Amino acid sequence: MIPFNKPYLTGKETHYIYDAVNSGKISGNGKYTQKCQAFFEEQYHFKKVLLTTSCTDALEMAAILANIKEGDEVIVPSFTFVSTAIAFVRQGAKIVFADSYANNPNIDADKIEDLITSRTKAIVPVHYAGVACDMDKIMELAEKYNLLVIEDAAQAIDSFYINKLGEKRALGSIGHFAAFSFHETKNIVSGEGGMLAINDERFISRAEIIWEKGTNRAEFFRGEVNKYGWVDTGSSFLPSEIIAAFLWAQIENLSMIQERRVSLWNYYYDGLSKLNIQKFALPEVPDYATKNGHMFYLTCVNGEMRDKLISSLKDNGFHAVFHYLSLHSSEYYAHKHDAGRILPNSDNFTECLVRLPLFYELNFEDLDKIFDCLALTFEDVKG
Ligand SMILES: *Cc1c(COP(=O)(O)O)cnc(C)c1O
Repeated sequence: MIPFNKPYLTGKETHYIYDAVNSGKISGNGKYTQKCQAFFEEQYHFKKVLLTTSCTDALEMAAILANIKEGDEVIVPSFTFVSTAIAFVRQGAKIVFADSYANNPNIDADKIEDLITSRTKAIVPVHYAGVACDMDKIMELAEKYNLLVIEDAAQAIDSFYINKLGEKRALGSIGHFAAFSFHETKNIVSGEGGMLAINDERFISRAEIIWEKGTNRAEFFRGEVNKYGWVDTGSSFLPSEIIAAFLWAQIENLSMIQERRVSLWNYYYDGLSKLNIQKFALPEVPDYATKNGHMFYLTCVNGEMRDKLISSLKDNGFHAVFHYLSLHSSEYYAHKHDAGRILPNSDNFTECLVRLPLFYELNFEDLDKIFDCLALTFEDVKG
């Protein structure tokens, strides 16, 4: 069986972990944490980066920093992973779910303004499959209504947005905050892991405090204050050096990993375009977005076709999966607010989207077999 995902190991992970362990410093914020953070700050022009134990944690930090409270409203796409919403729900916010575009799972930026009220505090665009949301429109709304923007960039490492001035900006460098994931299903991994990028300088010193259990430890070690104590809320959001050492090996190979993933993505796109099948749509990448080879998905014409495709891929030895289930109609949230709201595009992706295998070690020959399987499956379906 060809799996849906297989984490790629560069070979250096255990070497750097050995080095971290041998150095005697295995708790957080040591040499490897600082190397990783400095790399991302330089490479993608994030003002400040803090490694976290997951993207979920990075989102929770952002929700605390944004001072989200009971009664506040936060606009989140419905078609996303639970973590995007849960960080704000934990702060007591009401989530106002937004729909996707018809042809692109990202939040429909033209429909956000109607959702803004006097209680709205933040917008959380998710760059689905590493493809940028329309950030110019979202940042304009944020400015107009004085909102914070928290990018869920979990899938968006090394992907870019071309703004209206023609400038190419890394995803995660545009909003006030951005959260990334290094979960084993993402492009570069550390098992579990993530980072918070902070692009608004007003929040940096508080972020360091929340990151280290509400203490001013970071300032103390830089010699900026002469006492180290409890000064704010917080948690233990920082990963150990063992995780950071693992991540460093991945970072060293980032461009090679990206090149391979993007070439697999392109091979999928070209091969499936040539099949000229009307029963599914290929992913749409707007002119303002780049792709980072995070995910290759198709949108079938209906749920029945999607299930048929997944099962015939399985019969041919390929594991394909679907996700997400619209959060606005989830068991946990449906009864809380917005009961009965209909978000047709999000529901359509819930029913019709399928993710095909995509990982570093996948071969082009495997993709050829997947194309054959798709051709047969859909040839079968008459009318
Ligand atoms: C993977 C993912 C997350 C969660 O990342 P963790 O590091 O597992 O917490 C959040 N949002 C999106 C869109 C994701 O794809």
